[in-house]
Amino acid sequence: MVLVRNNKKDAYYVVTPKTCSCPAATYNPGQPCKHARKYFPQPKVTAPAVDSIKPEGKWPGGHNGPVDEIMGVA
Ligand SMILES: [Zn+2]
Repeated sequence: MVLVRNNKKDAYYVVTPKTCSCPAATYNPGQPCKHARKYFPQPKVTAPAVDSIKPEGKWPGGHNGPVDEIMGVA
């Protein structure tokens, strides 16, 4: 946890890897604000994580899976 002075230099934000007391973090709950990203660089797991949950394009043989067999549109 770090304290970050705001641009007006009249207040400090409490910054942790996932939260911040600045307005931007309040408006975007669940998303690290620029402070969190700056002081706690996020591990680059976003792209691989997204890829891993995407369905594979085609089944072996170019079919879309059992549905093609059922519908007869292989
Ligand atoms: Zn912030």
